[in-house]
Amino acid sequence: MSLPRRARVAIVGGGILGCAAAWHLARAGVRDVLVLERDELNAATTSQAAGLIGQLRTSAVKSAIVGQTLADIATLEAEGLASGFRRTGSLRLALTPARDAEIREQVRAARGFGVDAALIGSDDVRRLAPGIEPSKDHVAAWLPNDGYAEPYTLASAYATAARRLGVTLVTGCEVLGIRIAGGRARGVTVGEGDVDAEVVVIAAGAWTGAIAAHAGAAVPAFAVRHQAWVTAPMAWVTSTFPVVRVPDRLAYVRPEVGGLMLGFFETTPLGVDVGACADFTVTATPRAGEVLTAHAPGLMEVVPGLGEAPVIGGTAGVPTYTPDGHFVVGPLPGIAGLFVATGCCAHGIAGSGGVGRALAEAVTGMAPTLDPAPMAPGRFGDRTWDPAWLRVACLETYAHYYDLVRR
Ligand SMILES: Cc1cc2nc3c(=O)[nH]c(=O)nc-3n(C[C@H](O)[C@H](O)[C@H](O)COP(=O)(O)OP(=O)(O)OC[C@H]3O[C@@H](n4cnc5c(N)ncnc54)[C@H](O)[C@@H]3O)c2cc1C
Repeated sequence: MSLPRRARVAIVGGGILGCAAAWHLARAGVRDVLVLERDELNAATTSQAAGLIGQLRTSAVKSAIVGQTLADIATLEAEGLASGFRRTGSLRLALTPARDAEIREQVRAARGFGVDAALIGSDDVRRLAPGIEPSKDHVAAWLPNDGYAEPYTLASAYATAARRLGVTLVTGCEVLGIRIAGGRARGVTVGEGDVDAEVVVIAAGAWTGAIAAHAGAAVPAFAVRHQAWVTAPMAWVTSTFPVVRVPDRLAYVRPEVGGLMLGFFETTPLGVDVGACADFTVTATPRAGEVLTAHAPGLMEVVPGLGEAPVIGGTAGVPTYTPDGHFVVGPLPGIAGLFVATGCCAHGIAGSGGVGRALAEAVTGMAPTLDPAPMAPGRFGDRTWDPAWLRVACLETYAHYYDLVRR
């Protein structure tokens, strides 16, 4: 693919958020879109995800962001594209009275947002997820339309659908800088020279902050290592086994080729400043087996059969976090025509559709269907420029991911 020298919109980064944004821009009528990816499409953190897609969120807009992804999956599949989505349903278990109260409130709120969600007891949990030992004293949330997507497949579907609408995706093309003149973005610089663009979108995952910093802008997001592990097949993991979240054990599981994929949210997470390490790649994400060792016993109280099969693999990557757990989507303050789509807080697969749509609405000036305020890049004001505050605040978001939501 030869490199175009101009585009209406240039997107830096061909992960799931860049590809979803490109497709939504094209669907909104902006066909002259150029995605620049330095590696292969979707080869960075997107390829490492567990791909859980869950609608039980803490606000209507967060739930709608995920709902847009489910709607996109239906559209992509109707266009003949595999999404890799399995509608297994999802369970969220309570092991304590406080969590029980939280889940009751979350289900009540979700129903108010229009999400299909129900409270169920332990017998129903055992029926839906044989092998799970729930608390008999506490409820669980059941969301039949949730599930998980194979992340690379879903992201590739966005890319293919975008290409069909005229979007140009160029791989092996590193953006070296954003061109700014007269207070607005004018394009990007790559190895072959300059590309003119009226709008530049930075959707470069963990690298978004460093790229924006070179352009003189600050992004309220910071990368934190996250890992998942995969077990060998186990006879009791059925083909209909759902996604199961156990927040009181900081854990989630979902089926993976007859075994389980499991992940934990560490209480002392590892921040990764990719901007300070020029050659960092996602495959070099430092792994820590002790996270599994520390958390697996607690999870095995709920999933006793977990000990039957060895761990045979795993993934690790560097999703970005934000101080308030919301995505960062929209125009960067101070530089006209410069936008970002990042701050996934470990649900960028689940949120890809909503982020793509919100970005397209922001760029085109269309009436927003998703409230842009909670995602606004400038919402933290001058604190965004304080790297020490930002790092600590984002690590806190990760460390408290499954904390009880206080209302
Ligand atoms: C173990 C694990 C489990 C996860 N589980 C889930 C889950 O269950 N559900 C969920 O929704 N999410 C999950 N996530 C999070 C999910 O992976 C991310 O939210 C999502 O992949 C973020 O996509 P992205 O496009 O922002 O970033 P990336 O996929 O990292 O894409 C950014 C792209 O930008 C490119 N780039 C960077 N710099 C440049 C440059 N200068 N020029 C050109 N290109 C550049 C990179 O090469 C990369 O391809 C998980 C993540 C991990 C690691």
